[in-house]
Amino acid sequence: MSGKRQTSPARQYRVPGGPHSLPVHGAWKGHLPAKESILPDGTQKVEFVRNRILAGLPRKEYARIASDLVPTTLKAGQILYEPGGTMQSAYFPETAVVSILSQAEDGTSIEVSLVGSEGVVGVPIVLKSHALPYRVVVQGAGTAWRMKADVLRREFDRCGPLHKLLLHYVHALIVQLAQSSACNQFHTTRQRLCRWLLASEDLSGSNELRSTQEFLSQMLGVNRGSANQAAGSLQRAGLIRYRRGRITILNRAGLETATCECYRIIRSEFDRFFRR
Ligand SMILES: [Zn+2]
Repeated sequence: MSGKRQTSPARQYRVPGGPHSLPVHGAWKGHLPAKESILPDGTQKVEFVRNRILAGLPRKEYARIASDLVPTTLKAGQILYEPGGTMQSAYFPETAVVSILSQAEDGTSIEVSLVGSEGVVGVPIVLKSHALPYRVVVQGAGTAWRMKADVLRREFDRCGPLHKLLLHYVHALIVQLAQSSACNQFHTTRQRLCRWLLASEDLSGSNELRSTQEFLSQMLGVNRGSANQAAGSLQRAGLIRYRRGRITILNRAGLETATCECYRIIRSEFDRFFRR
């Protein structure tokens, strides 16, 4: 299985108001062009914004803030924020996936939220607190747009389209947090692992995920034995391949059947506001 989902074949993209059509590689219909470049064969390639908050902005609004968005590569395991610090920047993930982890005094931890292309790391900035009692760690390497905290605050205070999209995201995030709390209480480790795998694939666009036993146990808030048992069960059912610290999703439909209702509840809240 390949790591990345198949992208759309090249298609014609008509520049609004422009006289010509451009061949577009891997374009997401209707998404904002982030970068346009000329390929060696003379055709023009347009790379599109994947982040669903930024992609939801009107074209003029995106163009206005584009110079404040710095393309950034995030490495797996990179710590973006430690409790007690001040958030200096917000991150709008494109292909990167970021975990927000709660760590207990005995050193054990559990993932309280997962942020990817449908969100932003920086809600405390928007809510004017700039701080969080959780660690923010890159779970899946990839790209993101970085924006300085004061710029995000300024843009939010304009009460324009970005303000509205960020409020929609905060609502979806509250649903995600509340549902995750119920899920941790009522559903099995196996069901929760299915949900985590599906959400990770949605956010990263990849069916291959980094996941050592230790990492899985951190994400799920269970001991390594329980995490390994759940992953082994999914592998025996043919839903995943679990090898050398990587999980490959083999049967997405099977995972959707095996997970609890929490995945669909959270998914539908994000889909209500942000197109995919
Ligand atoms: Zn659940």
